[in-house]
Formats: sequence, structure tokens, C-alpha cells
Amino acid sequence: MQAMGLTGEVITTPFTFASTTHAIVRNGLTPVFCDINEKDYTIDVSKIESLITEKTSAIVPVHVYGNICDIEAIEQIAQKHNLKVIYDAAHTFGVKYKGKGIGAFVDASCFSFHATKVFNTIEGGAVCFKDEKLGDEIYNLKNFGIRGPETVSGIGANAKMNEFCAAMGLCNLRHIDDEISKRKAVVDRYKLHLAGVQGIKFSDEQKDVQGNYAYFPILVDKELFGKSRDDIFEELAANNIYARKYFYPLTNNFECYSDRFDSGNTPVAERISNNVLTLPLYADLSLQDVDRICAIIQSKK
Ligand SMILES: *Cc1c(COP(=O)(O)O)cnc(C)c1O
Repeated sequence: MQAMGLTGEVITTPFTFASTTHAIVRNGLTPVFCDINEKDYTIDVSKIESLITEKTSAIVPVHVYGNICDIEAIEQIAQKHNLKVIYDAAHTFGVKYKGKGIGAFVDASCFSFHATKVFNTIEGGAVCFKDEKLGDEIYNLKNFGIRGPETVSGIGANAKMNEFCAAMGLCNLRHIDDEISKRKAVVDRYKLHLAGVQGIKFSDEQKDVQGNYAYFPILVDKELFGKSRDDIFEELAANNIYARKYFYPLTNNFECYSDRFDSGNTPVAERISNNVLTLPLYADLSLQDVDRICAIIQSKK
């Protein structure tokens, strides 16, 4: 955002990790929250245009759980209104759309390599960008603006990846295909148990998308299922199994923003956030453990 010199308002969603909204605010910009769609929990593209004002400079959509946004619709809106697009692609390392890496779309995509992600360097990340000049500017910002022993061309900070994290990443990169296919087996096992269960929903695989199986979220309808999201969360925890209310709370409900935003303006996000649970998912999770988790979920209250 800093490298692009964004100003004014940025359209984004509240169904995300804290940093998406914080980054906007910390850059002196105003987040304008757009609701999400119930199909894949990404930005509802039909609601973007009504939020655009003359102050809007960019859209910051979030690819959620490995589901990708409606890239084509977003690109069209951005072009029509001359807006930049920066994707929060933290969940989508390794995801492909129509055969292209998910970082290949306008104008920039930000990946997280935090220890909890599909690919990790312990801490770290990467930005993919279209315009070489933008890449230069980002490079400047991450290394104090230092371009040579006697040249400092920008007012940058220290946002470099350290050597140890880079080495960790190189090791993990060798196993990424294996990591993703093992995750797929876990997800398939969850689906085997939970498909067709009244009151439990999960999203379908998206068309033209090669996924990374980063998360397995279920949406719980208490009326139909008999137990709420929070009931399941607590039952699992009582068995030492830690699912995650992710993303809950919405960023526009955070204490630090309580006097600024109203989550009532994003009702779909609010409902999903109150009813979603991401189940344990990692490459080495055994299928027997998945069976056990599903048995606890489906046990009578
Ligand atoms: C993990 C995550 C981030 C933050 O990534 P860091 O590498 O911890 O800075 C941002 N957005 C989303 C959606 C995430 O899941």
C-alpha cells in the first residue's frame, strides 16, 4: 500500500485476519467494508461498486481458506474505476487459477509464510507484483531504502526475511507437493464423514481452481444440527482437540475499532463468522484422528 502511494479509502472485507485491516489503517487509509458471499466467503463482487467514492484508491480482497476471489469481476471493476488491487493471498500459496499461479493477477498479491500456513518459513512472506517499478519500490521499503553502499533512495524499514527463515523455506519447498496431497487426503476424509449431514455445510471446490487444502471450515446451523459452532468447539476442546473459530470476531468488530465500524453493515460476514469452525488440518493428521474428530462432532449432545 505504501509502495503504491495509496490514499483515501480502500474497499476490503472484515472476514479476515487482523493484519488485512490493520495494514490499511496503519497506512493512514480508511477501510470501507464490503460484505462477503456465502458460497466461498470471499468479497461479494456485486456489492463493491456501490461502495466506490471519489476517495477510493484500491480494493484489498482476501482469498479465504484457499478459495479464491472472483478475479475477473474484480479486475473489471478496478479497470473501470481506475483502482489498484492488492490481494491478501496469505491462504493461497500453491493455488492455481486456470493453470496460472494465484500471484499472477493484478496488481499485487501478498503471501504469508507464517508457521501455520501451507508453506512456511517460520515467519515471513512474499509479494508478487505485475509492475517492475512497484517491485523496486517494495524492495526499497523492505531494506531501509538502501540500494548500494553509498545510496539510500527511500525511507524504508527492516522487513527483510532473515537467512535462517529463508533456509527453512528452501527445505519446506521440497516437500510442498507432498504436503498439499496429504492435506487433500485429510480433507477428503472429513468430507466422507460430513457430506450430507443436516446442518453442516462446507464449500464445494471452485471451478478452474487447483486448490491447496489450506483449511477445512464447516458452517454449523444450530437449528438443523442440534449443536452450535461453539458447542462443537467446546466438545472438541474437552477432548484436547483444538479447532479454530476462524475468522471470529470480524475485524470490524475488534475492540480497537469498536467506535469506528459497524459489523451490521456486513451481515453475511457476521453470520458466517458466528457459525464457522475450521477443523484441525495438517499433512500428518492421521485419518483415524479425522474419524475420531468427526465422531465427536456427530455425537449427540
Ligand atoms: C496469516 C494471515 C495473514 C498474516 O500473515 P503474516 O505472515 O503473519 O503477516 C494475513 N492475512 C491472512 C488472511 C492470514 O491468514
